[in-house]
Amino acid sequence: NTILVTGANGFIATQTVASLLESGYRVRGTVRSQASADALLKMFPQISSELSVVVVPDMTAQGAFDEAVKGVNAVLHIASPFTLTIKDNEAEMLVPAIKGTEGLLESVATHGSDTRRVVLTSSFAAMVNFTKGFWPGHVYNEADWNDVTYDYAKTADAGTAYVASKALAEKAAWSFVRERKPHFDLAVLCPPMVFGPPAHAVSFSAPNVSAWDMNRFLSGELEDVPSTDFWGFVDVRDLATAHVRALEVPEAGNERFFIVSGRYSYQKTADVLRASPLIPEAYKKQVPVGQPGKNYPGPHVYDVDNSKSKRILGIGYRPFEESIIDSALKLIELREKK
Ligand code: NDP
Repeated sequence: NTILVTGANGFIATQTVASLLESGYRVRGTVRSQASADALLKMFPQISSELSVVVVPDMTAQGAFDEAVKGVNAVLHIASPFTLTIKDNEAEMLVPAIKGTEGLLESVATHGSDTRRVVLTSSFAAMVNFTKGFWPGHVYNEADWNDVTYDYAKTADAGTAYVASKALAEKAAWSFVRERKPHFDLAVLCPPMVFGPPAHAVSFSAPNVSAWDMNRFLSGELEDVPSTDFWGFVDVRDLATAHVRALEVPEAGNERFFIVSGRYSYQKTADVLRASPLIPEAYKKQVPVGQPGKNYPGPHVYDVDNSKSKRILGIGYRPFEESIIDSALKLIELREKK
């Protein structure tokens, strides 16, 4: 069984590639450059014969994935722009996310005759309703949709453009399967903030968003505890398992899953790091103090429902403390080596 993973060098994808290889799959990854291909292959020296990497420099190009999808049994589409430093919302965020997804599905429909399922990594961004704020009393689940429009996102701030890119790409994927009725089915995963130890090649000069988010608690750059915008989290290792299960479980076809462990806040992050005997004192000193014990998730903030993912995908979720401590320990190890 061969699985295609797009954006295979990223934070979530590298962990997912590791889970696929551990589960006995052969993996074909796509990346944007030969340097990313080399870095990814270096991560898996012991099983390199089961992992191949192809370079797809521009996923919006016509037929970009036509060759990559040939002979694969399932596809995990994880690649999507995830950065908050963009100048052009359409060119750098909306178009690659939406056209990349549509182009991939078109390639599978026309050249991927062996493919029975495509799993799309969407996001809580595609579920959240910003107009409701913290929405006390609401419990987010798979029925929630972000209805931000393309026109609005074109000129909005980068965060809104990202959130819109995920919502609109997911909607495009569902429209594709509804209208084209292809030979494969679709399963969609919507994770919120993803924490946990990075398995990919972290760049401290240009970190991916999740590494940046945790690293700033250890680097001394935070003067105070940041305010929490998104209150749900999941560990990257559980999300990787969810990707594997989403391609294996027959009932996952044509379903959307909220992949969430529970709620957290940045104050809780700071408190957990400072209380842990595992975190070296030199790093604890860098963690902002804020107001310990305050601003935790409570009745003033929406809740999250992960029951569908547990029931159908059969997955469990790591608790917040484990996720945060393991991410911090891995980042400290990488910082010490840099
Ligand atoms: P990373 O930045 O680590 O990975 C993103 C991947 O997408 C990289 O392989 C990157 O390639 C690729 N990519 C980015 N832009 C493009 C583009 N224009 N064309 C082709 N490939 C591109 O982020 P994550 O691993 O965190 O994110 C992976 C997926 O998970 C994304 O779809 C993201 O939206 C989603 N997600 C992430 C969450 C999180 O908290 N981390 C939460 C919810 C969803 P390159 O290395 O060349 O830039």
